Amino acid sequence: MLAMNYRGPYRIRAVHKPEPEIEHPGDAIVRVTRSCICGSDLHLYHGLVPDTRIGSTFGHEFTGVVEEVGSAVQHLKPGDHVLVPFNIFCGSCYFCQKELYSNCHSTNPEATAVGGIFGYSHTAGGYDGGQAEYVRVPMADVGPTVIPADIDLDDAVLLTDALPTGYQAAEMGDIREGDTVVIFGAGPVGIFAAKSAWLLGAGRVIVVDHVDYRLEFVRSYAQCEVIDFKQVGDMAIHIKKMTDGLGADVCIDCVGCEAAGNFAQTLLGVKLKLQGGAATVLHWCINSVRKGGTVSIVGVYGPTFNAVPIGNAVNKGLTLRMNQASVKRHLPRLIEHIQAGRLEPRRVISHRIDLRDVADAYHIFSSKLDNCIKTVLVPPGMVRETTTAAASL
Ligand SMILES: [Zn+2]
Ligand SMILES: [Zn+2]
Repeated sequence: MLAMNYRGPYRIRAVHKPEPEIEHPGDAIVRVTRSCICGSDLHLYHGLVPDTRIGSTFGHEFTGVVEEVGSAVQHLKPGDHVLVPFNIFCGSCYFCQKELYSNCHSTNPEATAVGGIFGYSHTAGGYDGGQAEYVRVPMADVGPTVIPADIDLDDAVLLTDALPTGYQAAEMGDIREGDTVVIFGAGPVGIFAAKSAWLLGAGRVIVVDHVDYRLEFVRSYAQCEVIDFKQVGDMAIHIKKMTDGLGADVCIDCVGCEAAGNFAQTLLGVKLKLQGGAATVLHWCINSVRKGGTVSIVGVYGPTFNAVPIGNAVNKGLTLRMNQASVKRHLPRLIEHIQAGRLEPRRVISHRIDLRDVADAYHIFSSKLDNCIKTVLVPPGMVRETTTAAASL
């Protein structure tokens, strides 16, 4: 089968490799119909995630049709068109019982922090991902969700990570009615966090980035104010000036370890790797939020330390919330929002690229060329006009 293949930092290509097989009675084999490239795939692509092995296939955001199921699978059958959450989780361990699916203790041998994730290095379990024609889906009775017939496949694939992650970012902000919410990062997750902040009662939503076309997009898509950080001297002072001198009620980090905006942070964290990535946005969040406010973090950081102003956070009495999204927990509510027309996630998709051209797709996304916001990879042979789950069967 055709699959994306990692050859080293900034080097990937499409290769032919053996199709995956059922390895465990709880597995399913899924024929991929859509897969996305995520901003967090760029951390892998740039060589920033430890133990990203040559030959691995990325891709934790995908939909597909079930081809085959293991003998223990009871809730899925061949022909089901499913969206597959990026978390691989067992559904029954101590953490899954608390709906902390992203922290599952059973699906990642290195499970001191995160659980299993498709296509996200051996630090997340070493599973191959969905930027391929076929993918093995472990714990198939637990994660995959059959796509309702009235949900567009392009919406469905965004339910595997970007939309639930943006939603959980806003949810962890504990937004009260009328709150001013500042979101750092105008990528798909930040865009969805902005939309979700309104749904959760925000009175004012401000998105910060430095990529002009993304700021333009989020301003019209999420009806929010925007700040171009290139035009701002001191972020905390700027936000305070916009908020009666108090600071934002909630600050949300949707950027993570490759933040631009501070040369010293980028040098230490990204170039020299002396900390787990640039902590620029963590500084901005802690220093821009008001006393007693909440900082919510969904941006991805490395497992090692980061230098952050923890004293400021303590002295301001902040609440810090953070985690990777537990996708499955949010699906019923988000599917309802899409069906009611309150969310149209597919509008963030700017590029639809053949899987054979995956190297070009990464380059375009990584370099932010051609106004790229979100790229969907389509395996060859997938009928492009097919947009709903029902129509593709
Ligand atoms: Zn993702
Ligand atoms: Zn579990």
